[in-house]
Amino acid sequence: MTAPAPGGRVLPTLNEDGTRNWIRPKPSSGPWWRRRRVVAYALMALFIAIPHIPIAGKPAVLLDIPRREFTLFGTTFLPTDTLLLMLLLASIVIAIFLFSALFGRVWCGWACPQTVYLEFLYRPIERWLEGGRSGSLRLDKANRHFAPRRLLKYAIYLGISLVLAHTFLAYFVGAEAIARWVRLSPREHPVPFIVMAVTTLMVFTDFTWFREQTCLIACPYGRWQSVLLDRQSLVVSYDHRRGEPRAHVKDHTEQSGDCIDCKACVTTCPTGIDIRNGLQMECVHCTQCIDACDTIMEQVGRPRGLIRYSSQAALEGVAHRVLRPRVVIYPLALILFLGGFLVALGTRPAADITVLRSQAEAFRVEPDGRIVNQVRIRIGNRSRAGHEYAITVIGAESGEVVAPESPLQVEAGELRTTSIFVVLPREAFTAGSRAVTVRIEAGTSFVRDQPFTLIGPSDAKDADPDEDGS
Ligand code: SF4
Ligand code: SF4
Repeated sequence: MTAPAPGGRVLPTLNEDGTRNWIRPKPSSGPWWRRRRVVAYALMALFIAIPHIPIAGKPAVLLDIPRREFTLFGTTFLPTDTLLLMLLLASIVIAIFLFSALFGRVWCGWACPQTVYLEFLYRPIERWLEGGRSGSLRLDKANRHFAPRRLLKYAIYLGISLVLAHTFLAYFVGAEAIARWVRLSPREHPVPFIVMAVTTLMVFTDFTWFREQTCLIACPYGRWQSVLLDRQSLVVSYDHRRGEPRAHVKDHTEQSGDCIDCKACVTTCPTGIDIRNGLQMECVHCTQCIDACDTIMEQVGRPRGLIRYSSQAALEGVAHRVLRPRVVIYPLALILFLGGFLVALGTRPAADITVLRSQAEAFRVEPDGRIVNQVRIRIGNRSRAGHEYAITVIGAESGEVVAPESPLQVEAGELRTTSIFVVLPREAFTAGSRAVTVRIEAGTSFVRDQPFTLIGPSDAKDADPDEDGS
């Protein structure tokens, strides 16, 4: 059985013989490009700055995965905050759905790091070193991937990728840890060094080689657009009714549309598509084709906006409808989830207390016959200051409480676990148990009473001193 013949180009980055079609877009400076450049450089500055901005003694964003603590702008989420994080995550996803329904892939074109860094950092350096788009194409044609100017480009790319990888990892370990590690020999911190090297390599490979294929092949968001958008969503689109039938300037007649088939919109497209073929999964809504076409329209004396932000419905002459089911349902869902998150955040206690039984043994019998219960106490300090937490047990007055670490110092946003030992005479237990209350106090600002059941021998009178509860 023979394989079916290829049906033409399946991806703009692949030639029909399977080789790479390198896309070297021609920059189109114009109002949209200038607006996007301002946004892009602001986002780059923000990305670099955030790990260095302290809020309440912690970085503005710190995603401490080993300790399962996420700090976002002064609020620390502990492992017990899973519900809060789920509400926040759900709110973000719904917000993306809503934005996509209203404004199409505005995230891809304006704020996605892939677009921002590729179009406003890596590609400009490439054009500068290789002599613009035509210089890059000449090197591609001659297969000179290691020409001296390209080697210099790779060296600069590697330096930038190092900075980006270090900054990215600062979000997970903090800028101070990064600053400390870079001064040490890799032998002194092999694991962070390997993580850093792999991350740098991934960033370098992505922006040097994989490039727009991340949007075309790897990113799921582009594939979602068929369900996230509707015909009323704002998208970068070509006005078919105005542009067609297209004709070169020299062939232009009364019946011709406004498109002069100059292909400026194609040569400027960073994903290598032709917007005139309609809304496509590959379009990241970068607006470069708008600027390119507007320039051409001005040159040939026709109105701008042959390619513009519009909706498919508007281009077909259908009246624009702001209110559609998804534009009503998404905000309602957003209010529900975001409201739930804010209420839960605003009403959560200043400390998260968990009282647990010892996993090793339920109780132990001392040689003098007294019963010992080990109780584990986990305290998560959610406040913005460190506190000393005093631990007492109400209902254990007939015995003693050994609390080696009381008061327990817990820093802001920290989660600590300690153990106390409650020693009671056998008579204190009824039918093998005794109800007590574990009280955790931090000065006068925080008091929590946590009911707890101590375990003892089921028949205290007959208990053997050698017995234990394991
Ligand atoms: S840039 Fe405008 S005029 Fe030129 S091919 Fe594209 S749509 Fe037609
Ligand atoms: S078609 Fe236009 S908006 Fe879409 S990716 Fe290409 S240049 Fe950007």
